[in-house]
Amino acid sequence: MEKVAEANFPSKFGNFKIYGFKAKSGKEYVVLGKNVEDDSIIPIVRIHSQCLTGDALGSLRCDCGEQLQETLKLIEENGRGLLIYQPEEGRGIGILNKLKAYELQDRGLDTVDANEELGFKADLRSYEECAQIISHFGFREIKFISNNPEKIKAIENMGIKIVERIKLKFEKNEFVKNYLEVKKKKMGHLF
Ligand SMILES: [Zn+2]
Repeated sequence: MEKVAEANFPSKFGNFKIYGFKAKSGKEYVVLGKNVEDDSIIPIVRIHSQCLTGDALGSLRCDCGEQLQETLKLIEENGRGLLIYQPEEGRGIGILNKLKAYELQDRGLDTVDANEELGFKADLRSYEECAQIISHFGFREIKFISNNPEKIKAIENMGIKIVERIKLKFEKNEFVKNYLEVKKKKMGHLF
């Protein structure tokens, strides 16, 4: 894992640094950091999986956009933290396959069944590289925003201690309620 760029990143959520990382696999990561060197504060960390439709286009089919914005607000409030933007659209199947899955969902399949119908496992993401990035910043203890047991496992395997798991709170519209229900039942997410 190599850091290839670092720059100031003023945003509507606060002043951050933006980093570019390149993994040995060739995968490229964008990371936002806040006061990463300040040892007096335990950092808040989130691994956010890319979701073009939710993050940038205001989709109500998922809660990704809200999670992203809430995370940046929390990191700003906490005064220290890291957001790793994981470049794995649609749980790793790519944007066009994600749109095909939406098409299947419109015909009544849930998110997991739709991915399987397209010939993919429910979730193709892996989190080792994200854990390497957290390690790169020297964090030994973090507060982690996630309900995903796979992410938690990857971080703990790197020897990083999760001292607190933070839940994000926001209004759920009817599309999202259904989507979260499937995450809980079929993917073991913790709510
Ligand atoms: Zn999404």
